[in-house]
Amino acid sequence: MTYVADANRYQSMQYRRCGASGIRLPAVSLGLWHNFGGMDVYENGRTMVRKAFDLGITHFDLANNYGPPAGSAEETFGKILKDDLHAYRDELIISTKAGFYMWPGPYGEWGSKKSLVSSLDQSLKRMGLDYVDIFYHHRPDPDTPLEETMSALDWIVRQGKALYVGISNYKAEEAKEAISILKRLGTPCLIHQPSYSILNRWAENGLLDVLDEEKVGCIAYSPLHRGILTDRYLKGIPSDSRAAGQSVFLKSSDLTDEVMNKVRVLNEIAAGRGQKLSQMAISWVLRKAQVSSALIGASKVSQIEDAVGALENLKFTAEELAAIDSAVRG
Ligand code: NDP
Repeated sequence: MTYVADANRYQSMQYRRCGASGIRLPAVSLGLWHNFGGMDVYENGRTMVRKAFDLGITHFDLANNYGPPAGSAEETFGKILKDDLHAYRDELIISTKAGFYMWPGPYGEWGSKKSLVSSLDQSLKRMGLDYVDIFYHHRPDPDTPLEETMSALDWIVRQGKALYVGISNYKAEEAKEAISILKRLGTPCLIHQPSYSILNRWAENGLLDVLDEEKVGCIAYSPLHRGILTDRYLKGIPSDSRAAGQSVFLKSSDLTDEVMNKVRVLNEIAAGRGQKLSQMAISWVLRKAQVSSALIGASKVSQIEDAVGALENLKFTAEELAAIDSAVRG
């Protein structure tokens, strides 16, 4: 049956300005890193994307290498666009990235102009798109001059293959330099995508200040710390969870007693706020004015509903913040 988006989709979602740009992003965005690959069930991914859009999530985040196999998440998203969302293209912010290993030889990763331009062409083909809304350099490249990488981003925008550009995983000083080069080239940096969560605060060590000063937006990825900051693992490791699966990015050995003791205390604090832990974790990253969006992952529709439910309580008392800090210190 033809998909028709929920008529009320813009009623409850909050949209936050991305830096000083004209773009507002949904406070919750959906990433397709896990659970949308060629090995996953298409109908599950499709249902999640449709539900997300029905809830006002207008931003979907991809990368060339998401899968597995690499590239297959973009193919899945391309199919969902074709099957369901094509009529809504102008209501969507679709991002992709290049920088991590994608194909063999010297041009399949990092930050040369050759690599970025070829990779985006491949991504557009996989998704069946003429352009993406945001194209990111996925990680800093210690060997390619930053000037070349940023010039490639600028060129891609001038070619009309991306509307905006961003950087991901750049440290404060690297970000500052990249932002300055892009400004000079006339293609301002829209956004930075760092990891950020209650358990992972490196971005507070200078990066968020740089983004604030430069008026560049921030989208925080893995706000649930890849699933740890949820009730998922409170009673063991469910067989359908990321930690039980093939992902090398969350292993059962990451769920140490030390980590889980913190999670239990955080879970209590969340309950005191009338939230699930996953919801408190999302509210926590959004407490920073610089953070335009919390970029979550999901394996089922209920997780997307949980995430959007977080927006009902974004305020923290000083006592709650102190209790969270103390729980993390252990
Ligand atoms: P999260 O920290 O949001 O973790 C998502 C996982 O948490 C889900 O897959 C699910 O795990 C679990 N989860 C989500 N909601 C709930 C809930 N309500 N209750 C219980 N468990 C829940 O983010 P990800 O690590 O998935 O990353 C999100 C996105 O960020 C990616 O898709 C990608 O777009 C981006 N990203 C970018 C990177 C970069 O280098 N720029 C690197 C990594 C991610 P389960 O599958 O076990 O159900």
